[in-house]
Amino acid sequence: MNLARFPRVRLGHMPTPLEPMENLSRLLGGPDIWIKRDDCTGLSSGGNKTRKLEYLLAEALAQGADTVLTQGATQSNHARQTAAAAAKLGLECHILLEDRTGYADEAYNQSGNVLLDKLHGASITRHPGGTDMQAEMEKQAEALKAKGRKPYCIPGGGSNAVGALGYVNAALELVNQAAEMGLRIDHVVHATGSSGTQAGLVTGLVALNSGIPVLGIGVRAPKEKQEANVLALSEKVATHLGLPGIVRAEHVVANTDYVGQGYGIPTEGMIEAVKLVAEKEGIILDPVYSGKGMAGLIDLIRKGHFKKGENIVFLHTGGSVGLFGYPDSLDLG
Ligand SMILES: *Cc1c(COP(=O)(O)O)cnc(C)c1O
Repeated sequence: MNLARFPRVRLGHMPTPLEPMENLSRLLGGPDIWIKRDDCTGLSSGGNKTRKLEYLLAEALAQGADTVLTQGATQSNHARQTAAAAAKLGLECHILLEDRTGYADEAYNQSGNVLLDKLHGASITRHPGGTDMQAEMEKQAEALKAKGRKPYCIPGGGSNAVGALGYVNAALELVNQAAEMGLRIDHVVHATGSSGTQAGLVTGLVALNSGIPVLGIGVRAPKEKQEANVLALSEKVATHLGLPGIVRAEHVVANTDYVGQGYGIPTEGMIEAVKLVAEKEGIILDPVYSGKGMAGLIDLIRKGHFKKGENIVFLHTGGSVGLFGYPDSLDLG
């Protein structure tokens, strides 16, 4: 595998720290929990999309693009990070936001990620839940082309074979970091949504023959669909890397028991996880992804899914800005 042959623009602070969560580990009394701080990638308060955007925007620049389009939910972290990356690279940015929750309040619709989208100078259009956002984005790109612009479309979450290279890179980083620290990683756990993070990580870890299993905690789709999405994208990533066929179905595992009522809708487990990690570790999770991912990890530890003495790495994918879009959900008084 030769990642350096793919164009990349530097946007993030890497390597991100890999730290023990001593208080949380002690409190839960199970395995040793570590945290890979991809919330500290640096781009507009950080998050997992930074790594993907390094490869996606390198492709956009190589194609001579002058405008970047992307789409996501109202409180999309991906949209916010894309807006920041486009700003840094002197590209115009247009964001299409889908109302997936139906929340009408001011904070959800204007604060958090939306405030930062605007601060980075992106323009925004809003679309009702259930819109075919990819088709809508392509329509807007055609309109821009007709005006002589050169648009580059990034799929939701930056999840295609190019974006997922960012998480192949993260797999290399993590395995090297663990080797330097003398840390034997037994499992990686993280929140999985549009699949690029898990597909890149799994492909990278398999390509390295690391033997490290990845567990994605779903935030939207049911298990079969989530695993099928991750596997299909992993196959594309492997082919893009020149390693077709290396990822097999057994490498792709998602647990979707922690979604609750739906994407972006708070759960009790998420609220407990966000509060616990804030109070015991001084680390901010987010309500849509990492909070539900951590809720899954905590519950699985309580159920004895992981053994004492194992080292579990929780990949913190960022998103804390989204908390400001949900000020009441945490019931802090
Ligand atoms: C996008 C996102 C995820 C999910 O990553 P995918 O690559 O879309 O599966 C997880 N956490 C946060 C904070 C995100 O913004």
